[in-house]
Amino acid sequence: MAENTLRDALVDEIRDLYNAEKQLTKALPKLAKAACSDELREALEAHLVETQGQVTRLERVFELLDEKPRGKHCAGIAGIIEEGGEMLKEDFDGPVMDAVIIASGQRAEHYEIAAYGTVVAWAEALGLTEVAEVLTETLDEEKAADGKLSALAEAGINEAATAEASDEADADDEDEATIGTTEPARVGALARSAKRRAKE
Ligand code: FE
Ligand code: FE
Ligand code: ZN
Repeated sequence: MAENTLRDALVDEIRDLYNAEKQLTKALPKLAKAACSDELREALEAHLVETQGQVTRLERVFELLDEKPRGKHCAGIAGIIEEGGEMLKEDFDGPVMDAVIIASGQRAEHYEIAAYGTVVAWAEALGLTEVAEVLTETLDEEKAADGKLSALAEAGINEAATAEASDEADADDEDEATIGTTEPARVGALARSAKRRAKE
């Protein structure tokens, strides 16, 4: 009767995360390099440093569980990274690329938040208090990284991306009909790009 326990499942998930974090340490520099906003690049670089620390933290968890630090291919994060890589190859202007980088980064953060939320809960259920504590430190970092990306998007990157799109519309002879049916945010962007043109 081979019955795997919740502890076995926990070790499996930790192996998945160990591999996921290692994949992310390779993917994050690529995202950072493609960023046009200095703030976004700095946020991604800061999260890269955190991610390296998260790898070390998982090694501590293996030690606490008396298991060898071994990864198991995480297909989930590999898929997210692959999608992100495809987006980077597309021809987006700087601010739009930044918005796309945030979209990709947040997919990764949400995957991690889900996974760390699970392993924290399982460790607590198994009475593995120290394991739960170590994993909670990472969970909190992932949540903060996700929040930072949302804040950057809302603090100007999304707006800048909208303005960029309207500049392109201007370039190929914007038609009044389009403007007439535009949402307020886009009208604002059009007005701003018109103002910018007037200054030039
Ligand atoms: Fe992480
Ligand atoms: Fe996974
Ligand atoms: Zn992360």
